[in-house]
Amino acid sequence: MSSYLLPTYKRQPISFVKGQGSYLYTADATPYLDALTGIAVCGLGHCHPRVTAAIADQAATLVHTSNLFGIDWQERAGEKLCQVAGMDKVFFANSGAEANEAALKMARLFASNRGQTQAKVIVMEKSFHGRTLLTVSATANPMARAGFFTLDDDFIRVPFGDIEAISQAIADNDNVCAVMLEPIQGESGVNTAANGFDFLTQVRKVCDDHDLLMILDEVQTGNGRTGRYFAYQYSSIKPDILTTAKGLGNGFPVGACMTSAKANDIFSYGSHGSTYGGTPLACRVVSEVIDVIDDENMMSNTLSNSAALIEQITSELGSQGVTVRGKGMMLGVVMPQDRGIAFDSLVDKARDNHHLIINVAGGNAIRLLPPLNMSADETAQIGERLIHLIQSALY
Ligand SMILES: *Cc1c(COP(=O)(O)O)cnc(C)c1O
Repeated sequence: MSSYLLPTYKRQPISFVKGQGSYLYTADATPYLDALTGIAVCGLGHCHPRVTAAIADQAATLVHTSNLFGIDWQERAGEKLCQVAGMDKVFFANSGAEANEAALKMARLFASNRGQTQAKVIVMEKSFHGRTLLTVSATANPMARAGFFTLDDDFIRVPFGDIEAISQAIADNDNVCAVMLEPIQGESGVNTAANGFDFLTQVRKVCDDHDLLMILDEVQTGNGRTGRYFAYQYSSIKPDILTTAKGLGNGFPVGACMTSAKANDIFSYGSHGSTYGGTPLACRVVSEVIDVIDDENMMSNTLSNSAALIEQITSELGSQGVTVRGKGMMLGVVMPQDRGIAFDSLVDKARDNHHLIINVAGGNAIRLLPPLNMSADETAQIGERLIHLIQSALY
């Protein structure tokens, strides 16, 4: 099929014309159970009525003014977001990459302000931080980086979970200014550090000992996805910079770069900006999303559904070597490598044979990112369809 679109995506041979709750619909009204939610974006399900109403009302009232003026909804959304995130200040952007770009620029300014001659940021193997030049340079995936003359000299890469490697990198280099990581790595297959969230505590200590910024990328893990508002809240530490996007707007494009303590004063007038960042419309949506997450007890729902789904999958498939990793509704169903499963064909089979939308990441992990407000019934449906899918793929 010819298309005017640049071929940056290998698209599946299907398109949806409508979404409601946990389902997507094709033009012939066939429902597909959505365990991907546009890659962890529509956490409240598709077209949540309260978010739809907020968009419609704000679209009819005021869409955009400019950051040259006061923006009431930006103040309100900023206060709500900082409160649930445990942070002090926020800069609103339009995407995850933009939020991370702001965080990395902040780290570079921090380095420059204190007289470092370069700004080296320690990042993790298997990380994903976005597609702008600076954020793709922080990203590990060689496919995303190839050919772009990435800024490799500005980053030091260490194994995820390896605190010794971080300490060594700091000892070896006078220009380290920050450590940046995802609490759970999403794009590379729902990877958790070997010592879980204790790793965050270790990173915090090293950053304190050496006066470095700790940057957490919660673009994917944020906004209730893991059963806490932000995944770092499973630990007792606080980052200096926290970024998020994806679930923040439930499909409306918006991102945020938040700061606490020593990062609050790095940016000043003129340091950074965005024409669209934090419009009345975007911020009205953020404000509504946060209210809905609270009003509908979405995180406790996430945790009970998550426990049920893990139990369902492991009791049925554990003996076949299938394991589940991750937290809340960010789960990786890890399949055995030696049972002849054609991992590349699972997405198509799930969609065509089971009307289930999934994603495969990190080679052999089915990545589940379903809505946070699914019913117990829908959760069990995902489990059932997944079990059939895997059983028929095993030999
Ligand atoms: C998706 C993602 C990004 C990039 O977000 P965009 O909105 O696509 O720019 C950055 N970091 C993480 C951890 C992500 O999952």
